[in-house]
Amino acid sequence: MELDSLYQEVILDHYKHPLHKGLSEDKTVQVHHVNPSCGDEITLNLQLDGDRVSDVTWDGVGCSISQASSSIMSDLVHGKTLSEAFLILDSFSELMASKGALSGDEEILEDGVALAGVSKFPARVKCALLGWMAFKDAALQGRDGAKK
Ligand code: ZN
Repeated sequence: MELDSLYQEVILDHYKHPLHKGLSEDKTVQVHHVNPSCGDEITLNLQLDGDRVSDVTWDGVGCSISQASSSIMSDLVHGKTLSEAFLILDSFSELMASKGALSGDEEILEDGVALAGVSKFPARVKCALLGWMAFKDAALQGRDGAKK
């Protein structure tokens, strides 16, 4: 897989120094997701304060794409409201579905645009989306739980 070298560095940096990795004790919801095609796994703890993501931490094993993407995701959604976080998630999902046609909105996705090239490799898209899908699952559970 060939990615732009600058982007490669951003990904490697997140892989080596992942943000928000290490599960916090406090959580509203915990989810565990796996990507069997690559062997990536993530456990994600989400803490909500009303409608706001007050904390998101994760732990996991897997390839550099899955780990870097989880790091980027956790940093992006941290402190956001759920509706803001879902807009970021939609933007990233659209990028990953683009098969290389989109380069990503840097204002929304920040370091996430470094993963744009992954969308050309369908087998790796699941790696990049793993953390994001875990977050979505946790956020929906947390939101629906709060309404009860
Ligand atoms: Zn992977």
